Amino acid sequence: FEEANVIRKSHRIKVSGTAPPPPLRSFAELEGKPGCCKRLLGNLAGAGFTEPTPIQRQAATALLAGRELLAVAPTGSGKTLGFLLPLLMLVRRLKAEEHAAEQAAAAAGGEGSEGGSGGDEEEGEGARSSSSLKAVVVSPTKELSVQTARVLKLLLPGLRTRCSVLSKATAAGTDFNKVDILMAQPLRLGAMAEEGKIDLSSVRLLILDEADKLFELGFTEQIDTVIAACRHRGCTRALFSATLPEAVENLARSVLKDPLRVTVGERNT
Ligand code: ADP
Ligand code: MG
Repeated sequence: FEEANVIRKSHRIKVSGTAPPPPLRSFAELEGKPGCCKRLLGNLAGAGFTEPTPIQRQAATALLAGRELLAVAPTGSGKTLGFLLPLLMLVRRLKAEEHAAEQAAAAAGGEGSEGGSGGDEEEGEGARSSSSLKAVVVSPTKELSVQTARVLKLLLPGLRTRCSVLSKATAAGTDFNKVDILMAQPLRLGAMAEEGKIDLSSVRLLILDEADKLFELGFTEQIDTVIAACRHRGCTRALFSATLPEAVENLARSVLKDPLRVTVGERNT
């Protein structure tokens, strides 16, 4: 605990809330953790990310511990990777768990059931959700979604994880229920969720990026819709923002479960 406070102090990380996990000392510390692998750490280093920034240190361990989060740090402080890295690890962990469960089910069901060319399990057990979507990042603009997807793609080579940006063009041609990670804006995502065109019931991590702008721009209703559509019991929600106006913080706190608040730099309201 003492060491955690030393790291926080030296990086000017302030955290409030119940039992915050210690911040990361280095990216290397993630090696061997569920959802991490040498390839991911290699991709990270290859992209020039060698030392975590302060917000990344505390946001990563909080999200990996399944904590809901209000993360406030100035523009340019690396918030994007602060949520993308733990997001990717969580998604990979969930996929690995699902894969193991499918293997176990196949092994159990395979006994005595002959025939078929093997491996074609189209109908399955019917227990699976219609969607494999695990994580959603909501941004105020398409440009920001594209930019976020660009950072994510730096981390993805060799990891068999699919991401997509929801847009007018992709809305028609993509089966978003087969994507693992989705970047979207509140209007289109909210509408598609309401119309049943996209199934968010399997989403386990919902990130609201530039949360101050999301609420400033009047997307409160759409965000409520998205939050409600991400109805998995184990869904974690987190806000990332450069500023956190009191009204937004109050709104967020009315929804989030026992959130941690992480602030780097000046307290900015
Ligand atoms: P924010 O969302 O907080 O405004 P960004 O996530 O856009 O900030 O990051 C700002 C810049 O910092 C980007 O150019 C990004 O590549 C760089 N950056 C982020 N994390 C690191 C890191 N750990 N090491 C080096 N550069 C980083
Ligand atoms: Mg940002």
